[in-house]
Amino acid sequence: MLYSCCVITQGAKRDAIYDLQRSSFKYIPKAMTKVLSLCKKGKSVDFIKRKFKENERIIDEYFDFLIENEFGQFVDEFDNCFVPLDTTANLYQGINYAILDYSLESKYLLEDAIAQLGELRCEHLELRFYDFVTLDFIEHVLAAVQGTTISSVYMIVQYSEQLFVENIKKLHEKHPRMIMVICVGAPKGFNKILKNNHLVVFYTEQQVKDENNCGVFSKSYLTINTDFYVESLHYNNCLSNKLSVSRFGEIKNCPSMDRSFGNIATTTLKSAIENSDFRDLWQISKDKIEGCNICELRYICQDCRAYRRNKNDIFSKPLKCSYNPCE
Ligand code: SF4
Ligand code: SF4
Repeated sequence: MLYSCCVITQGAKRDAIYDLQRSSFKYIPKAMTKVLSLCKKGKSVDFIKRKFKENERIIDEYFDFLIENEFGQFVDEFDNCFVPLDTTANLYQGINYAILDYSLESKYLLEDAIAQLGELRCEHLELRFYDFVTLDFIEHVLAAVQGTTISSVYMIVQYSEQLFVENIKKLHEKHPRMIMVICVGAPKGFNKILKNNHLVVFYTEQQVKDENNCGVFSKSYLTINTDFYVESLHYNNCLSNKLSVSRFGEIKNCPSMDRSFGNIATTTLKSAIENSDFRDLWQISKDKIEGCNICELRYICQDCRAYRRNKNDIFSKPLKCSYNPCE
């Protein structure tokens, strides 16, 4: 019997088992899923071996693989061994994640936007600075987060000598809600990562000068945990409960989307999200997206509705994914 946190997702050519507790996954052949479906019906190992008697060795290999990877265990009685995973849809109607983009062109005040996000009871904030900002400026922004509902801050900043690890650590001591800093445009060969329980600092040579870098699929970006899995089963795993302000002050689902729900200079975040259209994209789960709906990675892979293969089709496959589940 598979543990409740180990779930199978079927793809066009092969399937995958996600281990939601250990944040890992393995590809499995479709034949293994078939064997596991018999197990799920309470059929014994002997029964399965008799059924596929020409493939007894392969069946043994399948069970060895499952036990070695600790995806499950042999049980005497199948029923009621493990409490099933609760996959009930439960969408919070408010905003819990916000992206604020900022560059030299920006005319809005970050602290005002942050105060409004606090009023909306937002919990997570991503700040993306596309031009160089000083440490003092970052500290000033982080001070605005204090006393709000925002409990974690992720940041993309342009590399500067001020942003050495020691300075970032000191900033984190003062502002522990800042839990991730990605310094882009670092000098060649300066790729570095600091990771501890409370803070991740990552330096990369990659240039990020505007919102166009978002939406890239990579296997290293997969998110394997229960919350993300359950959200992906029912809703859009990038845009549900998300609100963004572009560097030009436009209030959008994400800064890369075309549609604006007003400019923050004249519209409050609250009134923008009260527009019923704002939530439309939240309902586009992976199962509704062409190409993703046959992919075994679909419930651990973040969607992108801004960059699509077919710009005229909101259900079209993410443009920046080259993975082909049929190959
Ligand atoms: S929809 Fe695409 S571009 Fe927008 S935040 Fe999500 S991944 Fe990024
Ligand atoms: S974007 Fe779609 S097709 Fe590409 S890996 Fe993710 S789920 Fe699969």
